[in-house]
Amino acid sequence: MNDWRLTDQAEYLFEKELKYQIYRPQSKDWDHDHCEFCGDKFSELEGDLHIGYTANDGYYWICEKCFNDFKVQFHWTVKKTEN
Ligand SMILES: [Zn+2]
Repeated sequence: MNDWRLTDQAEYLFEKELKYQIYRPQSKDWDHDHCEFCGDKFSELEGDLHIGYTANDGYYWICEKCFNDFKVQFHWTVKKTEN
């Protein structure tokens, strides 16, 4: 499958267990992240994405659209989080 969003993500995201969660900045100086595929921005600011799928405890973020487009190809599983 060829898609402009695919680069080398399979090297670090293949068969990962992801968590669906609200975006929380890692620190004051690291207040946003980008979707690993399309580059959409996650932050707490208006107009940015506020929820998505994360791997490695918030290190990697994947937006809902890319999750749905690539979940089969990447064999992702989603960890249930307590409400
Ligand atoms: Zn995306």
